Amino acid sequence: TELTQEWLQEYVDDWVSFYRKRTADGEVASYIPILEEANRDHLGISIVGNNGMTVRSGDADIPFTIQSISKVLTFVVACMERGLSYILDRVDVEPTGGSFNSIMHLEISRVEKPFNPFVNAGAITVTSMLEGKTSDQKLEPFYELLEKMLDYRPALNVDVYESERDSSMRNRAIGYYLLETGFLESDLNVTLETYFKQCSVEITIDDLARIGMIIANDGENPANQEEIIPRQVARLAKALMLTCGMYDASGKFAAYVGVPAKSGVSGGIIALSPSRARDETLPFMSGCGIGVYGPALDDKGNSIAGIRLLRHIANQWDLSVF
Ligand code: GLN
Repeated sequence: TELTQEWLQEYVDDWVSFYRKRTADGEVASYIPILEEANRDHLGISIVGNNGMTVRSGDADIPFTIQSISKVLTFVVACMERGLSYILDRVDVEPTGGSFNSIMHLEISRVEKPFNPFVNAGAITVTSMLEGKTSDQKLEPFYELLEKMLDYRPALNVDVYESERDSSMRNRAIGYYLLETGFLESDLNVTLETYFKQCSVEITIDDLARIGMIIANDGENPANQEEIIPRQVARLAKALMLTCGMYDASGKFAAYVGVPAKSGVSGGIIALSPSRARDETLPFMSGCGIGVYGPALDDKGNSIAGIRLLRHIANQWDLSVF
């Protein structure tokens, strides 16, 4: 088959309309009250190839907050600021097999360190290591990285930030635990404020697809070979996405979909197909990034229709890295 954008578009449109009707057993996140306002029937996908070709379908223009997907980026920024070994001395790279906001796992790892940068405990620890005194200073390089990848500066959704901040008992509990055990490297309140802000940055699935595409290409912008993220850091981010990106559904996602991905409770998923030499059949998919939005979540906090759609695409187009 000759691989044209129209050909891909037709398939993706069909699959999106099929999976859009399959959100019935999902629930929109409600523990952050404002997230409950999302439309549970929305489903959209954007795919950006490493040549810039884009296929987008469904509810592709709805802005949403980045939530836990920000953890990938703060991890990258912290590694760039402090060096990999500094970060890895303080946060492990093991999946927890537990929920994203688990406290139990923090206690198990008490003498060691938080399990990984993609559960809340590890992410809050990473955020405390960002340089700067205030939350805005800490997030400046995070925004700069986003701007470099997206060619615009995404904005904070203040309503989500406030809702998150005012309903943050669990994250505060995690923060106090980290403070008591000596993992926090910044003031607790500044750290939490930074964390709530990073989660409340508003993006679209096109943005996620573009970020995914750059990580898929080991941190390099294929258009001009500019290194945006050091290769070693991008590789580690991909390994963490594959092993820890979908919380306690990461094993199943690796088994049935098989690509690095990271979800967030607003219903976004970033996924990517690492560039591989063998991809002559579907060159567009080699080194591509994928952004998905579907706010109805499964019991692990992952987009229910989003996972099904990704699984279908990965199987049809042989995207599994295995
Ligand atoms: N802001 C959310 C929280 O800390 C992020 C969690 C998520 O997206 N899974 O609870």
